[in-house]
Amino acid sequence: MSNEIPRPAQRRRELSVDDYVAGVRAGDRTILARAITLLESDSRRHEVQAQEVLHRLLPFTGRAKRVGITGVPGVGKSTFIESLGCQLVERGQKLAVLTIDPTSSRSGGSILGDKTRMERLCQLPAAFIRPSPSGLSLGGVARRTRETMLLCEAAGFDTILVETVGVGQTEIALRSLVDFFLLLLLPGAGDELQGIKKGIVEMADLVAINKAEGENRLRAELARQDQSAALHYLLPATSEWPTEVVLCAGLTGEGIPEIWERIEKFYAALTPKGIIARRRQEQSLAWLNDLILDELKRRFYRDARVQARLPAIQQALLRGEITAVRAAETLLAAPRENPAGATGAEH
Ligand code: GDP
Repeated sequence: MSNEIPRPAQRRRELSVDDYVAGVRAGDRTILARAITLLESDSRRHEVQAQEVLHRLLPFTGRAKRVGITGVPGVGKSTFIESLGCQLVERGQKLAVLTIDPTSSRSGGSILGDKTRMERLCQLPAAFIRPSPSGLSLGGVARRTRETMLLCEAAGFDTILVETVGVGQTEIALRSLVDFFLLLLLPGAGDELQGIKKGIVEMADLVAINKAEGENRLRAELARQDQSAALHYLLPATSEWPTEVVLCAGLTGEGIPEIWERIEKFYAALTPKGIIARRRQEQSLAWLNDLILDELKRRFYRDARVQARLPAIQQALLRGEITAVRAAETLLAAPRENPAGATGAEH
């Protein structure tokens, strides 16, 4: 859970946009945590304020390494992040750990949130751990995580690790907001590896077979060879960067410094070529596009004229009286049928 200890006296006082901007810039963790809470708020007033804060902080963003980590539940993500995170902090880095976990919106609790994770890392002042916002769809969580990442960058964090639960679509959302994508796999080829869809391996900049210590070492090495052979036929996720398969063990720390070296090499090799900047630009444009599509869809379905016509058209489609294309055309034309401001009642 969050390693922030809220100070009750401060909690009560409302902060202005200036307070948020100055606090985040100064690296004040309490204010950073409050700014993230502001971003996650449903209230329109908070949204306006949060966007103003982000806008003002934008010039100070973009300097961190943005690293994504995924793998099926139980592969050892939190153990790995704890080990890597402690090592980075020992080297004097400031590290933020964020999570994309839409399952936290389910009432039964989340995959990542219901156990105590990264206890050692939580204790370190240079590490900031923020769990996934709850009650949101994947798109909503991804948006908040992206904005939280920007706030953390403005607060001076050197590295942002973003983790996903590794189920369903979360990896795709993660890929769209990080520079480097690390996939953790279990030792043992065959069934366990099949749990990871091919498409996910294609997105990886590095594949690490985790838990590769002791007796697992041999099985892990076989898995490494299998994965390397499979990757041979795939296009690399990042141009000019070959995706390698390595062994590691989050529990013992084996292979973790080498993985970090590989990540540093990625930045050292690709930053001068503009490849990372280009990826970030593409991500920004895709994000803009997503936001526009989401808003258009929301406005469409909220339009009273669409709502008035939708059930009948759906029924006509189900009865086979109208094609899906014609049904869509009719509905898409509905907002233009009546003068703006009409109630939507059919005349
Ligand atoms: P997550 O669900 O991916 O975050 O996985 P966890 O980090 O919670 O680890 C799941 C289980 O695997 C726990 O019981 C860990 O102790 C264990 N584990 C994690 N890393 C290693 C490792 O490197 N070697 C071994 N043998 N077990 C590990």
